[in-house]
Amino acid sequence: MTLDLFWHEDALLHETGSGVFEHPPSPLMAVPELHPENAVRIRNMKAILERGPLAPHIRRREGRHAEVSELTTLHDPAYVESVREFCGAGGGVLTWSTTVAERSWEAALAAAGTTLAATDAVLTGETKTAYALVRPPGHHAQPAQADGYCLFSNAALAAERARRSGLERVAVLDWDVHHGNGTQECFYSRDDVLTVSMHMRHGSWGPAHPQTGAPDEVGTGRGEGFNVNVELPAGTGDGGYLRAVEELVAPIVDGFAPALLVVACGQDANQFDPNGRQCVTMEGFRALGAAARAMAEHYCDGRMVLVQEGGYARSYSAFCLHATLAGALERETELEDPCAYLPDDPGHADEEIAGARDVLSRYWSL
Ligand SMILES: [Zn+2]
Repeated sequence: MTLDLFWHEDALLHETGSGVFEHPPSPLMAVPELHPENAVRIRNMKAILERGPLAPHIRRREGRHAEVSELTTLHDPAYVESVREFCGAGGGVLTWSTTVAERSWEAALAAAGTTLAATDAVLTGETKTAYALVRPPGHHAQPAQADGYCLFSNAALAAERARRSGLERVAVLDWDVHHGNGTQECFYSRDDVLTVSMHMRHGSWGPAHPQTGAPDEVGTGRGEGFNVNVELPAGTGDGGYLRAVEELVAPIVDGFAPALLVVACGQDANQFDPNGRQCVTMEGFRALGAAARAMAEHYCDGRMVLVQEGGYARSYSAFCLHATLAGALERETELEDPCAYLPDDPGHADEEIAGARDVLSRYWSL
């Protein structure tokens, strides 16, 4: 089993500056740090895939820029133009924590276009499994709203592309540590794209992110029941994540029977991420990748598109990505976890999983 890795060098052009984490520089600090969403993180991810034990199983493919007409399959044209103009004027803080520079426009086009190139490779049968290593990430970007480091909703654009190619049902599974509110918003009233987000309970974070990520955000109209939110408490760990997959996500995907699985593939649920507190280790990520593989094999003839989202621990995220893709290729982790030490309690998320089951069992056999 092999994987096609889609990459475009312009991903590195998106500059987000430095300061106190995602905040402006402080005169109290001697050394500012890079904004958490920086090029270093994906350079490390690319390197581990080229240098690590998975390398012989990965085929390198070229990404491309998206056309504006591709972005507007889901995004409001006036919003797309406003992002282009804002970058063209030199950039700055677009919304709270979402910072862009002049060439971020090119990076955003490369992120969306490279995701679409990966999707097309799967849809045309060139490969069964494609992974788009892109930035800026996408799953917080709503049809007319930038949010949480995201400009365009890359994974949602992949799902929409698959629908327009003729696939009847597409599922998006998002295990980034944050709620995939942008993907949710793109499909909230639709029953042809199942959106599933497993995330740390963090709630709304202001006007750019009004969605709460709670299980009772189930979709509306025809889409009621087709938006699935599984909130998990801080410290959930490997066992809790896998229980959520086995007890909630897999049966729901089973009921939906998609023709393509899109994975919004973040690593910020890792145990050392500055943006999450979920304590997932490399072995947990391998198991998530393996679970996605099993779903894709069962329902989608093996077809799966993975799209890079968050993951901000600059070394450990790369190791966790390697582990995820190892699982997706039905392999063992193959690298020793350089950091694992946390004890794991599979019962840590019992209450939250039960609460989500109460809501979701109104729509699905659980
Ligand atoms: Zn995230």
